[in-house]
Amino acid sequence: MRPRRRLVGLVVVAAALLLFATQARPALPRVLMVTYSAGYQHDVVRRPTAGGLSTAERVVADLGRRSGGFEVSHVSTRDDLERLTATSVRAHGAILFFTTGELPMVAAVRQAIFQAVRDGGGFVGVHSATDTWYTIAEYRELLGGSFDGHPWHQRARLIVEDRTHPATRHLGDALEINDEIYQFRDWSRPSVHVLLRLDPRSVDVGRGRRPDGDYALAWTKAYGRGRAIYTALGHEPGVWADGRFQAHLLGAIQWALGRS
Ligand SMILES: [Zn+2]
Repeated sequence: MRPRRRLVGLVVVAAALLLFATQARPALPRVLMVTYSAGYQHDVVRRPTAGGLSTAERVVADLGRRSGGFEVSHVSTRDDLERLTATSVRAHGAILFFTTGELPMVAAVRQAIFQAVRDGGGFVGVHSATDTWYTIAEYRELLGGSFDGHPWHQRARLIVEDRTHPATRHLGDALEINDEIYQFRDWSRPSVHVLLRLDPRSVDVGRGRRPDGDYALAWTKAYGRGRAIYTALGHEPGVWADGRFQAHLLGAIQWALGRS
């Protein structure tokens, strides 16, 4: 074979291999994980001073890797937030918030988040995601509730209301967990689908504000053509190390991505 022909042959083989590799491994969906704290910063989203990822970032990245289901983009600092664009938001199949306070995000990027979910994307709110953007009515609509204090911080029993949802089907009919337990306002049962609720007998329920003792702690919510899911769990580092919570979160993310 003449050198020129050999070269053409090699190029053809390389192109075929590249095509095969591209087809065999389609790009994984990406999750945009926002852990910027404009208010109180939880230990689990604090990055170590030497750099690297926070506990929450590391767990979510590991869940993506171990499941082979998704990759994660991390937005932790104010600089990260300011670098976000509507285009970069749209490159993600789901957006995950573990945030607090009034996030300094330009309106166009904020609207791109809402639009991406309305257009069929996913949103995962974790713990203090409900303690975020009180001034943005559309965010309340997306999430389905606002933080209204944490009357309890203790071991509590949670009742699993939906035993078939990917986020809760591994939990049986109840679980006991040691965490900070939220209550909510701007929340109503008809507007959401409850996955987990507090067993009021497991706490001093008189410390909460609801006369009916109905404290939902995880739910899903339809939002346009997209999927929103919220879990109130995740304050304690021990919760992030708990395999039941990790499976809960993985199920929530996969569901938000439309993959389960
Ligand atoms: Zn907390």
